[in-house]
Amino acid sequence: MAALRKSCSALLNSLPKRYGRVAKSTAAQFQDESAAPVRKEIGEVNNMMEIGTRRIFAEEHDMFRQTARRFFQEEILPYHSEWEKNKEISREAWESAGTTGLLGVNTAEEHGGIGGDFLSAAIVWEEQSYVNCSGPGFSLHSDIVMPYITRYGTKAQIDKFIPMLTAGKWIGAIAMTEPGAGSDLQGVKTNAKRDGDDWILNGSKVFITNGYLADVVIVVAVTNPEAKSKAHGISLFLVEAGMPGFKKGKKLEKMGYKAQDTAELFFEDVRIPKENLLGEANKGFYYLMQELPQERLLIADMGIALCEWMFEETRAYVRQRKAFGKTISSLQTIQHKLAEMKTEICVGRSFMDQCLEIHQNRGCDSFSASMAKYWLTDLQCSVADRCVQMHGGWGYMWEYPIARAFVDSRVQPIYGGTNEIMKELIARSIVSDI
Ligand SMILES: Cc1cc2nc3c(=O)[nH]c(=O)nc-3n(C[C@H](O)[C@H](O)[C@H](O)COP(=O)(O)OP(=O)(O)OC[C@H]3O[C@@H](n4cnc5c(N)ncnc54)[C@H](O)[C@@H]3O)c2cc1C
Repeated sequence: MAALRKSCSALLNSLPKRYGRVAKSTAAQFQDESAAPVRKEIGEVNNMMEIGTRRIFAEEHDMFRQTARRFFQEEILPYHSEWEKNKEISREAWESAGTTGLLGVNTAEEHGGIGGDFLSAAIVWEEQSYVNCSGPGFSLHSDIVMPYITRYGTKAQIDKFIPMLTAGKWIGAIAMTEPGAGSDLQGVKTNAKRDGDDWILNGSKVFITNGYLADVVIVVAVTNPEAKSKAHGISLFLVEAGMPGFKKGKKLEKMGYKAQDTAELFFEDVRIPKENLLGEANKGFYYLMQELPQERLLIADMGIALCEWMFEETRAYVRQRKAFGKTISSLQTIQHKLAEMKTEICVGRSFMDQCLEIHQNRGCDSFSASMAKYWLTDLQCSVADRCVQMHGGWGYMWEYPIARAFVDSRVQPIYGGTNEIMKELIARSIVSDI
């Protein structure tokens, strides 16, 4: 496995030089014999999850996708139902993801990560979506938590946390939401007060992904209640499991994401050494605003990838389900539903891939990330609803994976900033001069 991780790392490191071979028009290819073969888009191929498609990717990505696909099919899918009963996935699965080289993919090697590009990180969460398993909080760990540490952390913090997170030996979480403050992040009450060089942390957080198993949690706290605005008085802390006064509540009972250890966290006079302040004091809100577009992009991409999975799952179902002596796929009403969904998914995928490519090259702006998050997660819910309907009563049975996809879809328009908040952000770019 260590060898596999090494080979993933070597493969992904070869990407920047070779990335960018976008498909040329057929006419241009005839003129240029050295042109790379055209990569088809998902609307042009038989299966939307086919490897070797989409112009934003290169051959090296395809090889990495094969590794990721094998991992999720062999190491995650067979165990997921059992994990749903435990409301958590196993630590072995985390470590196995680490040894396979699927955690910290987009974290630089010199920081202790794998050193792949952003598109390779996207492959990991897309492949997780393609097995319809919502338990592993890998993307939050790798592509939300780890970037805060590498971008705002000290060398000592990077050296301490990143290699352990990349190996899957430690699990990361981020705690912003509180019982009384979700959309309105400036309303957080959790606070940290100076005590000599240390900080004393008090408060609680709720709905924290990976919260129960987490070894390190980035906690958002008020550090200057007198600041000219609340946004200027918020800081981030690296709170470690086992620190006296840091307690984890029970794993929450949820409608979906049943194998995910979402939890409440409590802080009672937790002494935080100054070494665990992340970045500068009172700059926390600014850091959050910098990082939220990437969080929204990954939620959006998981949303459209799940649409692709649900579409293929339902297509296979209607082609074998019989009613009135023929398969239901021969009914025009079913065919039109599939045609509508395919069109919407292809349109959504185009915008998503554009955002992924921009983010890889120069960073996607907050408004585009919000558009992707709002539109694609709403699409996911609508596709889930239509796919369950096409499964009839079987779609309502837990043994049919489409039922899991349906309940899991419902949280997507809620977390990472609700879709109503996304529209607020998008609207700002429309009505004001930016
Ligand atoms: C499964 C799950 C996992 C999560 N993981 C994490 C995590 O890892 N870390 C973390 O910090 N949080 C996490 N969250 C929390 C999530 O981000 C919040 O639930 C979300 O931001 C909404 O906050 P809220 O629940 O307090 O709803 P509220 O803010 O109370 O919103 C209630 C309703 O009011 C609407 N509303 C509120 N303000 C406005 C406004 N200004 N304009 C228009 N409409 C508005 C909202 O859109 C929503 O429809 C998770 C939540 C869930 C369910």
